[in-house]
Amino acid sequence: FAVHLLAFHFTKLKEDQITKVDRFLHQLRLSDDVLQDVAARFQAEMLKGLARDTNPTAAVKMLPSFVRSLPDGSEKGEFLAVDLGGSQLRAHQVRVSDDGKQSSQLESKFYPTPKEVTQGNGAELFDYIADCLSDFMDTRNLKQKKLPLGFTFSFPCKQTKLDEGVLLEWTKHFRVRGVQGTDVVSSLHRALQKHQDIDVDVLALVNDTVGTMMTCGYDDPRCEVGLIIGTGTNACYMEEMRHISLVEGDEGRMCINTEWGAFGDDGALDDLRTEFDRELDLGSLNPGKQLFEKMISSLYLGELVRLILLKMTKEGLLFNGKVSAALLTKGKIEMKHVSAMEKYKEGLSNTREILTELKLFPSEEDCVAVQHVCTIVSFRSANLCAAALAAILTRLRDNKKLLRMRTTVGIDGGLYKTHPRRLHPSTTRVPAGLALSPRAQLQHPASPKCLMRAELEYGLKREAQ
Ligand code: BGC
Ligand code: MG
Repeated sequence: FAVHLLAFHFTKLKEDQITKVDRFLHQLRLSDDVLQDVAARFQAEMLKGLARDTNPTAAVKMLPSFVRSLPDGSEKGEFLAVDLGGSQLRAHQVRVSDDGKQSSQLESKFYPTPKEVTQGNGAELFDYIADCLSDFMDTRNLKQKKLPLGFTFSFPCKQTKLDEGVLLEWTKHFRVRGVQGTDVVSSLHRALQKHQDIDVDVLALVNDTVGTMMTCGYDDPRCEVGLIIGTGTNACYMEEMRHISLVEGDEGRMCINTEWGAFGDDGALDDLRTEFDRELDLGSLNPGKQLFEKMISSLYLGELVRLILLKMTKEGLLFNGKVSAALLTKGKIEMKHVSAMEKYKEGLSNTREILTELKLFPSEEDCVAVQHVCTIVSFRSANLCAAALAAILTRLRDNKKLLRMRTTVGIDGGLYKTHPRRLHPSTTRVPAGLALSPRAQLQHPASPKCLMRAELEYGLKREAQ
């Protein structure tokens, strides 16, 4: 009987805590109708960004990538690639098979990007990239070879051709002086020329979403969307040339880098943003910018959780109303903590450990409540992402004048790959009706592979569902 009573007590305790948090955070819980509405708003934003006359004032930039078709087998041989914009800089060597149908990563090496690099000046940044590349070629014994280089640069760039791109704005944790408004390809080229012992040619500049879509395309020719959910968030997709009035020509398709992170920068999401979103934004490197990204990506979710816990504590809802110095410190809660707290089995004990480290002396109730806060913040992130993805998929389907469409989305990014609440690690089919229930995407289907592929079966099934 005592055991039953205890179990009953815990269930009751859990329910009470969850209700308390749900009440406090009701604004972060988005209904299906609201998510539908977000998808519709994003559709309108895409149109605005695509049209020549509305593009200059559009928040969502819909940048042409000059990648005109998916890999078609004509590209083969050995390449170098360097990747800047996530948590680390990465150099890799890629080989595309003779038939052009497979790409294999031969080797990659990670380099740190300390604050001197991410928030220093432009010349230093590009010298650093060139130095890393030179080091990589040393370790791989590649210095005697002449190799083409793909530059993955995960920031919004205005391109007029494949090997040129003017940085529009820094995002995430980057703020390097003297780069905005300049062509990053020629800056990298200049830095590489200082290394007389290497001979590489920057062949293409691509956003990470575009790189992800292309890589996925080697495995699956149906891939026509690329999605990143990591430090930042963004997506690209194949758009009909006739809808891209910024680029001459009506034939075929071109990949568009949506830069959806900036969705809401014109106020379009103000009714959904909470006081926590506003506070986070004000304390960020780029206030007023990347407002959608700030509700979704891993650079911000930890801080959102911290701001929520702080307010709840001040209102006496947690930790007996006692705030700690750590809880008052910006950046003290990171995504890795949020993920650890959300783990199925160890989550609750992780929560206790993390809160204790923050000098918060949590009770059992506090731990349950904090864990639930993390879940709500992550859940909103996944749902918003799904809503915007649904808008893109709807657009693709409409472009093809189909009622049902079978497509593949290439997905990458640390948050997507490591978040504990996702479907089992294998390629999984998401059922039809995504447009109408963006939540389906919450369970990001994931595989342990470095690059993941979500196979989405997608159709219009309002009545049927
Ligand atoms: C950048 C995008 C990038 C995304 C994911 C955003 O902050 O603006 O260009 O694709 O992060 O890395
Ligand atoms: Mg056109």
